[in-house]
Amino acid sequence: MIKTADIKKLNEHYGADMSVVMCIEELSELTKALTKCLRYGETASTFEHLVEELADATICLALLQDVFAIKDEILDNEITLKMDRNMRRIS
Ligand SMILES: [Mg+2]
Repeated sequence: MIKTADIKKLNEHYGADMSVVMCIEELSELTKALTKCLRYGETASTFEHLVEELADATICLALLQDVFAIKDEILDNEITLKMDRNMRRIS
């Protein structure tokens, strides 16, 4: 569970620009973990690494939402639109 207050503390501590840089790095690490899963298959090691990087990336998405002051309602609406479109594409 990600606490909004903790996300704000992190962003205040690192500053917006550094938070964005860290998020770019973390999202890259997730990309790398995914390629390792595809390259070496789902082993205990690649799975553990994937979960670790997915956790980092999830935190980063919250950090980015806070940095850019994107309200939950706005993001939720966009997610709904995207998911509706995805569902139409596969139906
Ligand atoms: Mg990481």
